[in-house]
Amino acid sequence: MNKGTILGLAVCFIGLLCVAKAQEKVPCLEYTEYQLTTLYESGGCTVKRDMELGCARVTDCPNTCRVLTDRQRRRDFVLGERWKKTMYKCDCVTTEVLLGEKDPTAVPQPPPGAPAYPPRSRCRLKGCMHPDFENTFMKPKERYETKERVCICGKGPDPEVTEFNTLFRLKCANFEFAICKVFGELNGTIVFKQLSSGGVTYIRGSIAGFDTADSELLHGVHIHTYGTLNSDCTGGGPHFNPLGLDHGGPMEDQVKEKRHVGDMGNIRESTDYPGHSVFSKEDHVISLVHHNNVAGRSIKIHSKADESLDAEGIILSPGRPIGCCVMARADSSVWEKSETPEKDDKYM
Ligand SMILES: [Zn+2]
Repeated sequence: MNKGTILGLAVCFIGLLCVAKAQEKVPCLEYTEYQLTTLYESGGCTVKRDMELGCARVTDCPNTCRVLTDRQRRRDFVLGERWKKTMYKCDCVTTEVLLGEKDPTAVPQPPPGAPAYPPRSRCRLKGCMHPDFENTFMKPKERYETKERVCICGKGPDPEVTEFNTLFRLKCANFEFAICKVFGELNGTIVFKQLSSGGVTYIRGSIAGFDTADSELLHGVHIHTYGTLNSDCTGGGPHFNPLGLDHGGPMEDQVKEKRHVGDMGNIRESTDYPGHSVFSKEDHVISLVHHNNVAGRSIKIHSKADESLDAEGIILSPGRPIGCCVMARADSSVWEKSETPEKDDKYM
């Protein structure tokens, strides 16, 4: 008999012992994490967790244990009894495939001629463990958003929750923020917010100091390639254009893709607050996280509207830059402090 055969027999023997143990005494009773804590604290019992079975077992119990089985009822437990850990979103199933889910060849098999192993139970979570609240679960597809991040309960086993088999995986992404503090003839801020995983970029701005005597109510806004601005808002290089596309604007269509990334269209002076512009927009091209990343670049606000091309295809000048700023990375507080426009002031 070689070493492998001896080892194989030993594994089978241990395997049989485990199955025999799994068969003994009463079936699992449900408990929650809260109830288990109660058991530890008030029952004077020692509880051993048997994760393979999804059960907890009383291993040392001078007297009988009294444990809450729900908010009202109490039940006495004795040495050897088991609780199945379920919390409230955990679904107990019976299966013969316990060890072999990831590797079917690892499923323990009975020796030749022996009866088949009985089914064994385990638990699996029916939702995602909540990232912030203990003993709380998120339903599949449920979304949870804070000012710092967004989490979504999606499909797929969660490697973070090894205690149970899971069917759903919590996916979280943090928000990135940037702020641009406007100087020159204007003053104010423009703030940006986007998930680290990409997607839409949210932009809010509040800018004061526009000339109320002129007839210009629309002002072209562009992101320039570099953050190297002069005090008179010159410099900063050309419009930020990493894809080498043509200039595009004004942007009636917020999802317009054929444009310089830096083409933000126009902002409008408020009719209620002369000389002031409060705006908000969503942009699918400007980004804080990938190759269209605008952080560290500059923004210029012009004296006139960006009217794009004239009839002959000549780019019309939006006038001189009257305000400018450099975008810097920031925390969520800049977004929290930012103004949101009245409905009438949504435009561009
Ligand atoms: Zn442009």
